[in-house]
Amino acid sequence: MFDTLSDRLSATFKNLRGKGRLSQQDIDDTLREIRRALLEADVSLQAVRPFVAAVRERAEGTEVSKALNPAQQIVKIVNEELVAILGGETRRLRFAKNPPTVIMLAGLQGAGKTTLAGKLARWLKTEGHTPILVAADLQRPNAVTQLQVVGDRAGVPVFAPEPGNGVGNPVKVAQDSIDFAKAKMHDVVIVDTAGRLGIDAELMKQAADIRDAVKPDEILFVLDAMIGQNAVETALAFQDGVGFDGVVLTKLDGDARGGAALSVRAVTGKPVMFASSGEKLEDFDVFHPERMAGRILD
Ligand code: GDP
Repeated sequence: MFDTLSDRLSATFKNLRGKGRLSQQDIDDTLREIRRALLEADVSLQAVRPFVAAVRERAEGTEVSKALNPAQQIVKIVNEELVAILGGETRRLRFAKNPPTVIMLAGLQGAGKTTLAGKLARWLKTEGHTPILVAADLQRPNAVTQLQVVGDRAGVPVFAPEPGNGVGNPVKVAQDSIDFAKAKMHDVVIVDTAGRLGIDAELMKQAADIRDAVKPDEILFVLDAMIGQNAVETALAFQDGVGFDGVVLTKLDGDARGGAALSVRAVTGKPVMFASSGEKLEDFDVFHPERMAGRILD
């Protein structure tokens, strides 16, 4: 991910190397190249515009004109503005004062929700928590089984509907899971919800019903970073239909151009909280804006 963007940006900065004072033309050319590189990496225009404006304001200011090495100063500004567009600081999970903390996952089918549920559960365990996974995706016949496989791998119990009791009713399963967690002293409940291949009203309603029933402490929107320009539209639809507190980017190991990662915060105003980058449960980490910016400018 970001290979083309990184190459384009470093070629742009190379043109500035060795220059003393930068002319207005140098700054204009550099900004035009940065803008193009971002758009070609599928970054949304809504994110590109304020980014370029922020870099321009600083590039035309004294911090560059007075700098001994203006080229280096521009790279520093781009780096800092990348960190800013990626959310600045890492946003940590908020835990409920009275356990269990309820985390609800939402997103399209195939986004990597079930895999992510396992990764998150495993990570929480390593942080000293006692999570359970909840199978509230009752749309796909083997979604429950898939979650059970993931739960086994993570070494985390899975709460699933008993045959004949709440089958087909994901709201009831999610509700019951909270009583179960309380009784068994599990401090985090991760609710996996159903996804569809496309955005649809029924899916949104079901997710909203689960949300209203379990009142999650955190709703995480799981977004496949490979879906490029559609990412923004999908994120906005979920923001509108269900609402969410944070984003998890999946498939960051893919060779997509990276636009989703750079746009989603600017477009939704919600922070990326976790990054998932592979099929193994360990391929998961808290999202660090400065590390991601570093990867882009590497
Ligand atoms: P769900 O439909 O949203 O629950 O998605 P799944 O968890 O079933 O994931 C869909 C597919 O993407 C599966 O084949 C996963 O193995 C794969 N997958 C999930 N996360 C990642 C990731 O971070 N990187 C890669 N390369 N594949 C992933």
